Amino acid sequence: MMMDLAGMAERYLTARDTFLSNARKAGWQTESIAHPLQGPGGITLHTDIASAGNPDSDYLLMVTSGTHGIEGYLGSEIQSRLLAEGIVAADARDCHAVMVHAVNPYGFAWHRRVNEDNVDLNRNFIDFDAPLPVNEDYEEFYSLLNPVEWNEQYEETLKGEAAAAIARLGLGPVFKAVSGGQYRYPQGLQYGGSGPSWSRQTIEAIWSRMMTGKKCATQIDIHTGLGEPGVGVLLTYGAEEQARIRRARTMWEDIFVSPPPGSGDVMAQGVLGPRLEEMFPKEDVLAVVLEYGTLPPVDVLHGIAADNWLHHHGRIDSPAGSRIKQLMLDAFYLDDAGLREKAYLRARDVVSAAGRYV
Ligand SMILES: [Zn+2]
Repeated sequence: MMMDLAGMAERYLTARDTFLSNARKAGWQTESIAHPLQGPGGITLHTDIASAGNPDSDYLLMVTSGTHGIEGYLGSEIQSRLLAEGIVAADARDCHAVMVHAVNPYGFAWHRRVNEDNVDLNRNFIDFDAPLPVNEDYEEFYSLLNPVEWNEQYEETLKGEAAAAIARLGLGPVFKAVSGGQYRYPQGLQYGGSGPSWSRQTIEAIWSRMMTGKKCATQIDIHTGLGEPGVGVLLTYGAEEQARIRRARTMWEDIFVSPPPGSGDVMAQGVLGPRLEEMFPKEDVLAVVLEYGTLPPVDVLHGIAADNWLHHHGRIDSPAGSRIKQLMLDAFYLDDAGLREKAYLRARDVVSAAGRYV
């Protein structure tokens, strides 16, 4: 399978149009914020917002997609179907509901997990005035993950060495070294950036506006690429004794709560959700990720490393480029209607439980 520039442009535009038209049909208000850069074939890119319910309500429910660009294809479908099925009532008096489509529209349309600056947005929400986090373990994997030449032999080496490293060290430590984030190599995988990205500034402005007058908020950010195929796992940071975690448990018994990363721990600093909680410390804000599995970790890593190579050393508009863009879609979208149905039903339960919480 191949995915050329025209194919990518059409996919993005179709996802966006479906979201906007379903929102309008359901009586939601929409607005669009244009991204400064173009998509494949010169198309215009947007972060789109749909809102409904009562803006003066104390409670904000927000569902976001595409923080990791291409992961937005599944998130977009889920959002569009939630709108079509009226899962959050457009006229709810006790809830202000907001959906943000394509937090990172550049990565979404270009089939990248990162943004226009090669930045993983979930490593970008750090304090750039403080010393940058250091991920020493990343160095060990740098040359494996960031080759100058890309060919079949290299692909075999990557998969073999990644599988061997997982067998030797365990998935956790490898995942942490590779995916924890790094702020030293702008062309490397999992780069966190050198300042607040366009997407960060945009979503923070949306939050500031939507949080006006709110006392309580639930934010659900939809992701893909980690876990069992089609299974959606809810994740957040915190400790069981915290009020916001107790609130989470009343909505979703099965949410997975991890300890917050410490200052010496590079793993998962700069994540979107915790930043929202930090921006509104006086309000009861709960930000969670709904993460869906797609392919095994080695295949996902293969797609990301290939795509990173492509953008720094290859040509997107080439047979190799088309093949890698399809690899990315395979790694972050569920090309199976049954699994997508399962994924949707899970999201419907998660979102409706959050909608009922007031
Ligand atoms: Zn993600």
